[in-house]
Amino acid sequence: MSLTPAGRFAPSPSADLHIGNLRTAVLAWLFARSTGRRFLLRVEDLDDRTFPEIGHRQVADLAAIGLTWDEPAQWQTGHQDRYDAVISGLFEHGLLYECYCSRRDIAQAPRAPHAPEGAYPGTCRGLTDAERDQRRAETGRPPALRLRTDTFVGTVTDLLHGSYTGIIDDFVVRRGDGVPAYNLAVVVDDAAGGVDQVVRGDDLLPSSPRQAYLARLLGHPEPIYAHVPLVLNQDGARLAKRDGAVTLAEIGVDRALEQISVSLGWPPLSVAGMLDRFDPAHLPRRPWIYQPG
Ligand code: GLU
Repeated sequence: MSLTPAGRFAPSPSADLHIGNLRTAVLAWLFARSTGRRFLLRVEDLDDRTFPEIGHRQVADLAAIGLTWDEPAQWQTGHQDRYDAVISGLFEHGLLYECYCSRRDIAQAPRAPHAPEGAYPGTCRGLTDAERDQRRAETGRPPALRLRTDTFVGTVTDLLHGSYTGIIDDFVVRRGDGVPAYNLAVVVDDAAGGVDQVVRGDDLLPSSPRQAYLARLLGHPEPIYAHVPLVLNQDGARLAKRDGAVTLAEIGVDRALEQISVSLGWPPLSVAGMLDRFDPAHLPRRPWIYQPG
């Protein structure tokens, strides 16, 4: 039985959601519900800079503004078996290699021919067994696992950005500390949940060619992407907690909904009211400059 297609929102519980994150969540929900999709909520808690109590508050805040999802919220730490199975499969197909590079090694390595700026320079890609043993002994740290890709760039289609071309290098799928990397976990979970529509902040647009590549490699279709503009503070920088009065606890549900609705060009509305009017073609394309108060 195939799953009804879904959209999703996938916060990292490293800090409480601010008004910009809430607005992105509302947009993800509007895109999904206006197209008859299921909507999933996934707490991305693999990183050790995340905290369960923040995750629970994020889930509560999203419910408080009226969003609904079709299954209990999922937590990525509950999906370890799923990630392990995919990593083993890639390993068996010879598609992974061990990487001993530190960030500094990568920054200092000469760029590989044809590799774009910012791409992994390929230092560990062709190591012999003896060289690998030597690197292991020298660094004394467990290796990350990188995907052996066959290209340097890829293009995805985005509902707001059109055709976007970005780097696809040999990206990390499992970190040196054994934690599945963000790009792997997102792709595996989206595929497992039947997610075919990815709506998120446009700071993640550069990750999408890598994720689309991995999805295809694992036999999944590339999702529909919509990377929505971020929310900025009055200085034009990304909105952050230190800007003050940005979380739901600080703003209150009614005022937060009003601000989100007005930022999308509507009078103050509930999320159900926004759904009645939602038309992606009329979505503001510029960042929203947040005015507290
Ligand atoms: N967890 C990521 C974040 O909060 C978003 C992941 C995604 O939407 O693909 O930045």
